[in-house]
Parts: sequence; C-alpha cells; structure tokens
Amino acid sequence: MSYSFLKTPVKYLKHVGPKRAELLNKELNIFNFYDLITYYPFRYIDRSIFYKIKEININSSYVQIRGKIKNLYQTGERKSARLTADLEDETGKIELVWFRGIKWIKDKISPDVEYIVFGKINIFNGRYNIPHPEIDIASEQETGIISNLQAFYNSSEKLKSKGLNSKGISKLMRTLILSAQGNIYETLSNEIIKTLNLISLEQALINIHFPQDNYMIEKSILRLKFEELFFGQLKILRQRNIRIKKIQGHKFSVVGNYFNQFYKKNIPFELTNAQKKVIREIRIDVGSGRQMNRLLQGDVGSGKTLVALMSMLIALDNNCQTCLMAPTEVLANQHFQTITQMLYGLDIKTDLLTSSTKTSQRKNIYENLINGNLQILIGTHALIEDKVKFKNLGLVVIDEQHKFGVAQRAKLWTKNVIYPHILVMTATPIPRTLAMTLYGDLDISVIDELPPGRKSIKTYHLFESKRFRVFGFMKEQIKQGRQVYVVYPLIEESEKIDLKNLTDGYENIVREFPQQKYKVGMLHGRMKQEDKDSEIQHFIKNEKQILVSTTVIEVGIDIHNASVMIIENAERFGLSQLHQLRGRIGRGADQSHCILMTDYKLSSDARERINTMVRTSDGFEIAETDLKLRGPGEMEGTKQSGIFNLKLANLVQDEKILKTARNTAKKLLDNDPELQKKDNIPIADNFKFLFKNKTNWGLIS
Ligand code: ADP
Ligand code: MG
Repeated sequence: MSYSFLKTPVKYLKHVGPKRAELLNKELNIFNFYDLITYYPFRYIDRSIFYKIKEININSSYVQIRGKIKNLYQTGERKSARLTADLEDETGKIELVWFRGIKWIKDKISPDVEYIVFGKINIFNGRYNIPHPEIDIASEQETGIISNLQAFYNSSEKLKSKGLNSKGISKLMRTLILSAQGNIYETLSNEIIKTLNLISLEQALINIHFPQDNYMIEKSILRLKFEELFFGQLKILRQRNIRIKKIQGHKFSVVGNYFNQFYKKNIPFELTNAQKKVIREIRIDVGSGRQMNRLLQGDVGSGKTLVALMSMLIALDNNCQTCLMAPTEVLANQHFQTITQMLYGLDIKTDLLTSSTKTSQRKNIYENLINGNLQILIGTHALIEDKVKFKNLGLVVIDEQHKFGVAQRAKLWTKNVIYPHILVMTATPIPRTLAMTLYGDLDISVIDELPPGRKSIKTYHLFESKRFRVFGFMKEQIKQGRQVYVVYPLIEESEKIDLKNLTDGYENIVREFPQQKYKVGMLHGRMKQEDKDSEIQHFIKNEKQILVSTTVIEVGIDIHNASVMIIENAERFGLSQLHQLRGRIGRGADQSHCILMTDYKLSSDARERINTMVRTSDGFEIAETDLKLRGPGEMEGTKQSGIFNLKLANLVQDEKILKTARNTAKKLLDNDPELQKKDNIPIADNFKFLFKNKTNWGLIS
C-alpha cells in the first residue's frame, strides 16, 4: 500500500470529517488510515443464515430474520419513551424495541415492505424481543464489497452517539478498503510468503474486515499476526546486530589474581552448577572485545550477588573499575556489607554512595574515582549523577533492573569512553517467549538452580476466621527464636484506607503481643528515610521479633532468621509480587512458613493466584501462570517497552507464530542484513514506515 496513503489523517476519509476524526483519535487511538485499517474486529456473525421466528430459542444469540414490521406504538415520553413493533414472518412474530432514535425509526418504517432485521435476542418478562435491531430493506442490495460474515468492532458510548457503533465503523472500513483496493502493496518478500504459505497483505486486510468465508478469516488472522510479530522481532534482532557489530567494549582478556584468590580462599561454599555456567557465559562475553549487554535472571535466593561480584573481580583483574547500582538505599547498604565481608583479606578499595552519603565523604569518593584508587563503588541511583566520574569504568552491574528506566541505564553507558559492560540482574523470572520478545536485544543468562540445603518454604492459605490460630503459630515460632514479617497491601502509598488497615493491623498485633514480652516494629513508605532505616536495622539485629510492614521491605533483603511471613489481604497482590515477597523468607537453615490470609470471597483469578502460590515455589512456573492470568502488558518491566502494542497477536496464545516469526527474521537478517536484496525491499520499506523516528539505534539499553 502506498505509505503516503496510509499516513493520510483519518479526517479526510469520506463520512469522517474533523469532529468524528477527533472522536476516533480520542476514543480509539485512530489517527490515520493505517490506524483505521489495522483496527481489527473481535468477532464475526454469519449473515447468510436466516432464522424463522419460531426457531428462536433460549440459546439464540444474534439472529437475522426476513419479515414485515407491524403495530408500531410508542409509550412514555422523552427519556422514558419506548417504541415497540412486531416483526412477523410466516411462522410467528417477535417484538422489536427501541429506546433511542424513535422518531427516525417511525418515519423510516412502512408496514408492507419486507425487511431484513438483525439483532441480539433478549428475554424480557419471559418473552423474546430484539432491542435496537439493525434494519435493512430486503430488496436493497449492498454495493461494493459484500460479505456474509459481518465483522463486529469495539466501540464506545461516545462513538455510538455519533453513529459510530460497530456498523458505523464497518461502513468507514468499507469506504477505506474500496479506495485502497488495488493499491495495497505487499510488505513481505515473495520467499517468505511462499515458504510459509501466507496470503497477500491485500487479501488479508480485505478479508479480516469483509471475509469471504471462515477459512479466509483464519488465513487473514494468521497472516496479520505473523506480520505483527515478524516486524517486532526484526526490529529487536536488527538492534542486536547493530550493537554486536558496532559497539566495541573492553576486552577482559585475563582472569587474574583478584578472581583467583577470591575463588580459592574467600568463597565459603561450592558454587552451584548454574552459577558456574553463568560465570563462564559472562567470561566469554567480556573477553570477546565487544560490549556485553546481559540480563542475569535467577529466582530470589539463587545467588546472583556472588556471580555479580566475581564478574566485578574480572573487571578489576583487567585494570578497570566497576560499580553496582541497587534500587534502594537498604539494598545498596546490604550489598556493600555483603561484598566487603566477602572480599575480606583482599586488598580492594570499595565504597558506598547513596543520597545520604555526607558531603565530605562524597568529595572523597569523587576524587578517588577519577584518580582510579577506588575500585568498586556500590550505591543507588546517586551513581548516575553527572558528578560521578570514573577513571576507567569497565563493568556496571544493575540489581533489580525493572525498577530503573531505560534512560537511566543508558546514562551509565556514557560514563566511559569505551562503553562499560552491562550486567543487569533480575529476580522476576520471565517466561522464555516473553524474554525473547522483551529482551531480544540483551543476551540472557539464567541461574536455574538454588544453592543446596535450602528448605522449601511451606505455604498455606487461611481465612480471617483462623486469625487466632495464626497468632498462636507466630508465638510458637518466636519462642523458637524466629522472626516474623506481617505484610499489608499498600498499593498506592497515598491510599488512606490502606494505611489505616496497616496501623489497625499493627495495633491488633501489639495488643496480642504485649510489649513486656515482644517487640513489634512498623514500616511503610510514608515514614522518613531515617526512621525506615532504623526500623529495618532493629529487625536485622533481631531486636524486634515482628515487623508489620507494607511491601517496602525490599526484594532481596537477606535476613536469615526471619522465617515466617504473614501476608494480609493476599488476594490483592499480583502473583509475581506474592512470589517476590515470599522470597524474603526461606533464606536460612530453618523451615520457613508463608501464610496467605484472604477474604472469603475470592474472584476466580485471585483463587488461582493463591492456589498457585500454595502449590509451587518455582519462579518460572509462577511467571507463566502470571502471564496467562494478566497478559504480558501487565507484567513487571514490560510497560515501557512498547513491544506489546500488539493489535492482533497474543504472546501467550501465539507462541508458535512468534517462534516462526523470530526464526524467519533471523534467517532473513543472516542472509541480507541490510535488507538490500530486491525481494526484500518491501520488508525494508515497511520497516521504515513502522519504526522511523521511533528508535535511536545508538543507545539501546
Ligand atoms: P539473589 O539471587 O536473590 O540475589 P543472593 O545473592 O542474595 O540471592 O544469595 C542468597 C543467599 O545464598 C546468600 O546468603 C548467599 O550467600 C547464599 N549463596 C549464594 N551462592 C551460594 C552457594 N553456591 N552455596 C550456598 N549458598 C550460596
Ligand atoms: Mg539479590
């Protein structure tokens, strides 16, 4: 299709005009012809089938009937006005009802004409009727594209009030397709079309809106889903190819003293096979001479910190500095402590930079960074600030990447003339299909094994009525020396009701666990940073046995003695979030317990979330279920990606098409990386049309 045609603003389409165009913009995000033609229907109804009135039964949904309309009469006035009529055929009669547009209908209908009436069967007072049917005169043939399968489009109340209900949208589509016909150019190469046995784009676009038959609907959907996924994959793979080719990186050619000493003397345990495998992958990557851009996935507790640290030591072995950025101050602190402890006895200069670092200390850090004395810097996003300048930054590690925006990550790149290697860690497991799409431009390493000897967490689901038993259980565990988290949902930290729930919960607990015997802490996002920190410190030092908190206790916090977690209103949390929360226990040698408290009334989704949590602690299984329940658009970390603006394809259901799309895109780029071969020109053109000005090839995170 000619691309200038596609870019035509929708107001220039016949029957649209500026007012309707504005509505289409606002309500459906339709700005130009391309947006309109890719506004796909969600179902079809076969209009070649006619019902006899006596055939209508309780299972009928949409029906089409040929007959005459008699006995029009109106009751009520204005807002309560109602027009009814009888539709008669040779087998019986059924009532038609209108609440709007009454005058127009009255004028339009004459009693002796045969009509085709189409609508949805409704049951009112035990009788069938059809509210707001579509009515056409039987002898008036439709012109243009004729289709027995009528497409249905989503509309909105506002659009409907301007005549743009499903049928109205269909009329616009007819106009658009009639003027585009013969003018729709192919976007794929002949080879791809032939190999995959696809229909042409023109056929697909006509048939998805005005299908010949059911077979053509299927073929059209397949072609258009492939189209979407293929160009998405092509974009990702091209970015990746450009990165691999052009972006030079530090070549870490040696593994030296720091790494070896640490490996021989400092690690208190045997690395898991998964850790070894991942360290090998990283070593090969940083030794290749191109910049590493790698995502390290591993469930909570899988030992990512150690992998990160060993990668950092390779950087030091190659005379580079390195930094680790964590999403919160508490986590940065914890990393700093763990890492300095682990590096004990090695002569490595390490420091911590957060927003609460004192000015004099800050100056000192800046100085030692630029002169190269400081080798490892750990911190929060304070690391991104312009004042932070390194002598030679070789590797950046980012923990819990979904908390950081793409732009923030990109900023770290520019901290060195040669771009530093990037290792991004996440404990949010992402199903493979999704990872392929979302992080197609990153290489992925997975730690798919937990360190040995870890006891699995026992998870239970209890209703409010068992509260008393839960208190008893907490007391018993505290008696054995354990500590307990009680977590409340506080989705929006500003929500007053949530905050009240939390404080009420806290008071309940203090009443049940008297101060003479128990110490109870409270933590939420609205507290001052110092108060938060001191509360956490009390808990870390086991000076308090119970911590009542919102989800602000960070992912990744590592308190071995806290082995019990009570999650209140668990039905209000998402599945991944529940899994992350639960990951804060089960870190020590003791048996851990997680209790999910819920209301009696649970939606089916909530029930499935809870059951999944009780059944498994496998992060990947949980992520798969989450993906199915919520859809990929809602997954953590996917929101900004834009890859999910899919109109037709679904990353869960269309996994097979996605794989084909990816393989096809890969093969294409292998053979013709710049898309210059004649057969591939249509692909290149469409690619430009879709992604022009939307991508900055230079800095892809
Ligand atoms: P996460 O992947 O969630 O960041 P951590 O790196 O915090 O996990 O590791 C969790 C705990 O497991 C830490 O206490 C760490 O010392 C320990 N650990 C890491 N690797 C091993 C191993 N190979 N064997 C035993 N324990 C390990
Ligand atoms: Mg961690």
